[in-house]
Amino acid sequence: MRLNCGYEAPACKAEALRLLAVNSGVRNLRIFAGGTDLLLRVRAGKEKDPTVLDISGLGLDYIEEEADLIRVGAMVTLSRAQKFFADLPEPLRLQSVSSGRVGCWQTRNVATLAGNVCTGLPSADAAVTLLCLEAGIRAESVRGSRLIPIDEFFKGPRRLALEEDEMVTEIVIPKPIAPDGGRFGGDFEKLGRRGELFISVLSVGCLLQLNAAGAVEKARLACGVLAPAPIRLYETEKFLAGKNLTDDLLLKAGEVMRGEIKPRDSYRGSRRYREAAGVNVMKRVVKKSAERAGRA
Ligand SMILES: Cc1cc2nc3c(=O)[nH]c(=O)nc-3n(C[C@H](O)[C@H](O)[C@H](O)COP(=O)(O)OP(=O)(O)OC[C@H]3O[C@@H](n4cnc5c(N)ncnc54)[C@H](O)[C@@H]3O)c2cc1C
Repeated sequence: MRLNCGYEAPACKAEALRLLAVNSGVRNLRIFAGGTDLLLRVRAGKEKDPTVLDISGLGLDYIEEEADLIRVGAMVTLSRAQKFFADLPEPLRLQSVSSGRVGCWQTRNVATLAGNVCTGLPSADAAVTLLCLEAGIRAESVRGSRLIPIDEFFKGPRRLALEEDEMVTEIVIPKPIAPDGGRFGGDFEKLGRRGELFISVLSVGCLLQLNAAGAVEKARLACGVLAPAPIRLYETEKFLAGKNLTDDLLLKAGEVMRGEIKPRDSYRGSRRYREAAGVNVMKRVVKKSAERAGRA
């Protein structure tokens, strides 16, 4: 099937940024990474007179590990991220878990981690754990480069903190440090109607740092489809910090969480179901994260 759209395939990043620049003369440019989301929209006529900007030739398919961070280029596929992060210690392993839950392996072999984030969808699974890991999103344009904290990146469904002339070139993930004998653990769970190949009804990710005494030093919680975009659960995190994890504490944490999510009704799940199930999934991922931290 032929797609009714223009096509640009720049050979380097500078050329791509020139095309994206406001005065380039090419309008309605849509960045095309793996295309697993974009091409469906073009085919369905949801993008008006688009020209796709193929970024596969820009050398952005790198993963670079430095002493205190990891840089994941915008063309790194979810399969590659799944494999790379699986070999890393807690809590970085978390990024492998969520990357490996997107679609099926055929999708993950072409879909990119950055593309997942840039859909701006509340159901973007891999974005949820990037929120827990406090990643930064590198945006570049002819005007320069900036690093946007991921919790400032999502503005609503398909709305991002990106200017029209900007492109995401990499995702920067800091390596968490646990001083004084602290230990990390993390977990991610998505709920849906089948075991595999489904869009999340909801998802929750957790990164937990336990101190030497076993209490919560730091909690990082994020969720998908429980608000118009993936969000951090800041109030629930604050509530858990400094406390020993007990069933009673998690029950109260669930009440705090209810106050900061805004699920909606859809054909995949009702608002009430999402609220109740979201709280249960939060309790499970916190418990599993604590178990993993205990083993680390
Ligand atoms: C069968 C199937 C199953 C799926 N299952 C899931 C699932 O379980 N969970 C899930 O989260 N998603 C799922 N998806 C959606 C999609 O596959 C993923 O979100 C994927 O990660 C998107 O990556 P991509 O590289 O294909 O993005 P593309 O389709 O290339 O781009 C997606 C959007 O991001 C923009 N974009 C891409 N890269 C950049 C960049 N570098 N800078 C700025 N903007 C950019 C594009 O313009 C477009 O608007 C599924 C899709 C299919 C077809």
